[in-house]
Amino acid sequence: MPTGNCPECDADVHVDTDADKGDIVSCEECGTDLEIVGLDPVELDIVEEDELDDDMDEDEDY
Ligand SMILES: [Zn+2]
Repeated sequence: MPTGNCPECDADVHVDTDADKGDIVSCEECGTDLEIVGLDPVELDIVEEDELDDDMDEDEDY
């Protein structure tokens, strides 16, 4: 079973073998919802559910 790396807590996150890009998985360690953005290798991106306002400011905190 492929695993990705949680960007939030650095834990291994198991991804279904039939998962697709855009699918959402939850980190078992911290509970963060993660979107699958790549499959080979598995890449995961944090889903920001709490920030749904249409604020398109340029100040990204990444
Ligand atoms: Zn995590």
